[in-house]
Amino acid sequence: MMIPSARRRFLNAALHGAAGLTLFGIAAAPATAKSRGPEIGATPLTDELTVFTGAGANVVALRGPDGLLLVDGGLEERSRDLLDVVFKQTGRKRVHTLFNTHWHPEQTGSNERLAGGDTRIIAHENTKLWLGYKTPVPWENRSYGPLPPKARPNATVYGSAKLTFGDEPVDYGYLLQAHTDGDIYVKFARRNVLVTGGAVSGDGWPVIDWGTGGWIGGMVDGLKTLIALADANTRIVPANGPVLTRADLEAQRDMYAAIFDRLGKLLRKGLAPDEVVAAAPAREFDAKWGNSDVFVTMAFKSLWGHFAPDA
Ligand SMILES: [Zn+2]
Repeated sequence: MMIPSARRRFLNAALHGAAGLTLFGIAAAPATAKSRGPEIGATPLTDELTVFTGAGANVVALRGPDGLLLVDGGLEERSRDLLDVVFKQTGRKRVHTLFNTHWHPEQTGSNERLAGGDTRIIAHENTKLWLGYKTPVPWENRSYGPLPPKARPNATVYGSAKLTFGDEPVDYGYLLQAHTDGDIYVKFARRNVLVTGGAVSGDGWPVIDWGTGGWIGGMVDGLKTLIALADANTRIVPANGPVLTRADLEAQRDMYAAIFDRLGKLLRKGLAPDEVVAAAPAREFDAKWGNSDVFVTMAFKSLWGHFAPDA
């Protein structure tokens, strides 16, 4: 989940306004459901691995003899379009295994559609728990869930585990409390591709979902874990944005560590969130990442559960 930028909000408003406009001022239904949202794009990574974009988050598909392994499922409202394109591009018609890298709607929107079949849905135990609740998302002024029981993960992990899919050894494991408290990565060892889940964003400030256990100190530690899993040639697929390298993750680790350090100092001074935003602890990253005010507010609030006031 990412912080919606002012530009994106404007575009959404413009698109929805245009769709509802008629000569008589009556909102018309869009011509087809498929006309909503960006086109689903496909970028091959290796012979059998492809990244799909445009469904709200990056979705990675591995083709195997038993069908497909997917990492994340996009938003529910984009799921039909996504799966149409995935099946067409890969020549497979069945999702054998689906990973949910965390509970957010951008990752879990295909669960319900695939739940009728025999898809194995793998997630961290905490992700399964959040999907069983109505979970508020204060920055969107709404809540999500619960998913129907059959659409919740049916295979969970707490630490790390392995499976083999076709000829590919697949390692997956917990990033502790980072973007949420249920983040996992998925690594395709033979093809040297690492899918990070929500702990890494490729194009703009991520959400730090402190309501479901995320915190900025954990983002730094999550990045350290991911860096240790990568080498200089690893292709790294973040939750959104372009494919990254290990050097990109190192730069993100340094950025979050610097912000974390400054926020800790501001917390010890007893500042309130608006005073922390005014102190601009992430200003030098704004040019690359966009306005950091919302991110800083979330990151600061995420410290409250971890630092005693007199620490
Ligand atoms: Zn997320």
